[in-house]
Amino acid sequence: MPPDPSARPDTVSPPFDPDALRERYRRERDRRLRADGNAQYRHIAGELAHFLEDPHVEPGFTRAPLHDEVEVAVIGTGFSGLLTGARLREAGVESLRMIESAGDVGGTWYWNRYPGAQCDIESYIYLPLLEELGYIPTEKYAHGPEILEHARAIARHYDLYRDACFQTQVTRMEWDDAGARWILSTQRGDRMRARFVCLANGPLSRPKLPGIPGVESFEGHAFHTSRWDYACTGGDTRGGLTGLRERTVGIIGTGATAVQCIPHLGEAARHLYVFQRTPSSIDVRGNRPTDPEWVRTLEPGWQQRRIDNFSTLVSGGSAEVDLVHDGWTDIIRNLSGMVDRGQENLSPEEMAAQLELADFQKMEQIRARVDALVQDRATADALKPYYRQFCKRPCFHDEYLPTFDRPNVTLVDTAGRGVEGITPQGVRVAGREYGVDCLIFATGFEVGTDYARRAGCEIVGRDGLALSEKWADGISTFHGLLSRGFPNCFLLGGIQSGVTPNFTELYGEQSQHIAYIVAHGLASGVTTVEPTVRAEADWVRVIRAAESAGQDFRESCTPGYYNNEGKPGEGPGWFGGTYGGGPGAFFELLRAWRTRGDLQGLELG
Ligand code: NDP
Repeated sequence: MPPDPSARPDTVSPPFDPDALRERYRRERDRRLRADGNAQYRHIAGELAHFLEDPHVEPGFTRAPLHDEVEVAVIGTGFSGLLTGARLREAGVESLRMIESAGDVGGTWYWNRYPGAQCDIESYIYLPLLEELGYIPTEKYAHGPEILEHARAIARHYDLYRDACFQTQVTRMEWDDAGARWILSTQRGDRMRARFVCLANGPLSRPKLPGIPGVESFEGHAFHTSRWDYACTGGDTRGGLTGLRERTVGIIGTGATAVQCIPHLGEAARHLYVFQRTPSSIDVRGNRPTDPEWVRTLEPGWQQRRIDNFSTLVSGGSAEVDLVHDGWTDIIRNLSGMVDRGQENLSPEEMAAQLELADFQKMEQIRARVDALVQDRATADALKPYYRQFCKRPCFHDEYLPTFDRPNVTLVDTAGRGVEGITPQGVRVAGREYGVDCLIFATGFEVGTDYARRAGCEIVGRDGLALSEKWADGISTFHGLLSRGFPNCFLLGGIQSGVTPNFTELYGEQSQHIAYIVAHGLASGVTTVEPTVRAEADWVRVIRAAESAGQDFRESCTPGYYNNEGKPGEGPGWFGGTYGGGPGAFFELLRAWRTRGDLQGLELG
């Protein structure tokens, strides 16, 4: 009988030995630690710039440069930019410009059209503004094309296409103090002026390549998963990659993206080599079509209630029901559950020990699932993750693991060291060359690098101070949204905020906050809005306190972007720190601030 991919082993046998596991986790981490941290990755530019080309637009687009002025410029039209545009429209802002480097809205979902692309956050809470648009997603976990179409629907609904300026990369923005305006320069020779700017460029938007010797020497087809080359593979986001029937394919990386596209590659390629450095944890997916009966039961306000319920549960809080009831809430319940059960009086050390135990238990389930779904023992062993659950992003998939039993699929485990080199004909690991015709980089996005580099745009504030200079010794914001010396400039995307796995919830809250401040500024005729020195310093203190509380955990983790590639506490790190109270408390804090109505902590000019 074939293995059941939805199997979630809930008993763990044999019982685990915490000391042995702790030691195993440490060993696995140590062999992955590298002195170069983030510097191991290649910045995509120069001779590698073709890896960033947009495969979804016709080449040769031109237009006359723009030298005009708007009230608000939004840079980026993924969900954070679209939500900001939508909320600004609702607040009565007509003079908007939505600037986007791609050829359409959608952000992540515009770029990431690899086969199998799907959101692993439940669609009923991830797709924003469902009630406003009168839309119900077709599945519990929506696939990429449906999500991209929903982004377009938001742009149409709020009439944002009229203000869109596509295929335009802002290369520099500079504050003109005398005119109290931002001046935006772009690669198209524009010099637009804007009273307010919202930077909605996304936390995971700049693809990165591994710094493996020889990347540029490869002579076959090579591309990054966020620029999928269907001309090479054939098929579409649903799979059917018939162009690979006669090709040997290599894919580097086994993170959340690779997990979704590998089953399609395995189905289609003559042979597939999967080059793994660290296995992901793969929990049950359990997707299903939306039940029309359930839809009929929904009452107005249902989406926000569902979002809030998820947020409460993933913040470790309790709720009478778990409305979403998926892998995310299951994980957190597992981790916090042992502590909930009448053990409120535990000391912090006892609590940490209980959490570790619950984590071991959860990861034992994950490892048992590998054994249940992969027949080849050596491959199964190599696919087992040995680290704590939130050292890396949890993944959810029912077809990924069984793919490795296909005769045309080989897992090339690099024992934590990574690929050694790329040759004109293939990939070298431990001295052996694997010949491939097509090489796919599922190697993720820049996270811990300088903000301006990721935004692709230097931000120069008052007195010529660049944001990179101001943040050279650490990111500094008020509520994660504003930074002193950079008036009227809002930063979306999770910097020093309450971060939730449901990113669109964060954007929903941030966009409402921005619209509130901008509407106030426009209505009362203020020229500038920025945080006071004190408010910003206080916020940074709150963030740093939470950072230091989690330092031991991050240090114990196998390297990845969650712990700044094994160097927690160095450089800008993941979002420059997050709010320790969790997302729910952070959103409450923002709402309470707006309810007070006194703009406390802001200096108005
Ligand atoms: P990741 O950064 O998560 O993964 C990159 C992969 O490349 C890792 O497996 C990494 O290994 C591997 N790698 C890097 N360098 C080398 C090397 N030299 N040799 C071998 N392997 C190497 O990127 P993804 O694109 O997978 O995901 C990025 C994020 O996007 C996710 O974490 C998630 O937040 C989001 N995402 C969300 C989805 C959703 O459903 N909502 C779906 C897909 C992505 P190692 O682990 O050892 O560093």
